[in-house]
Amino acid sequence: MSMSDQEKSPAAPAGATRAPADYFTGIAWVKPLVPANDSTDCVVGEVTFEPGARNNWHTHPHGQVLVATAGTGYYQEKGKPALLLHPGEAVSIAPNVVHWHGATADSRFTHIAINPAASQGVVVWLERVTDADYQAAYA
Ligand code: MN
Repeated sequence: MSMSDQEKSPAAPAGATRAPADYFTGIAWVKPLVPANDSTDCVVGEVTFEPGARNNWHTHPHGQVLVATAGTGYYQEKGKPALLLHPGEAVSIAPNVVHWHGATADSRFTHIAINPAASQGVVVWLERVTDADYQAAYA
């Protein structure tokens, strides 16, 4: 990494590691909060998206709850308008609904992701959210 890359690279939130590039466009960070072997069978993590970053289209076999905690972000279900998410707002995602979430272009965004029945599967990753798809979220 060159010095100029280091200067431009945002700092990871405490306790977080880089989200996998195969499933995220742009830079995002994941901080585990409740692990997969917990007695509740819920996997909980904090995800921080740098401006413009988002995850791929995906589904959750047992649904997911997102709770926005900082910045401004998007949640979009396939074929529906994108929703803006602000701190303190939550979205409940039904099983097998195709969707993505991420930051707006000009704000970092952090949410808590709660994944129930985790031992039976957490996520099924699909194709990337293209720049055209992402820009359409602003329409
Ligand atoms: Mn999701």
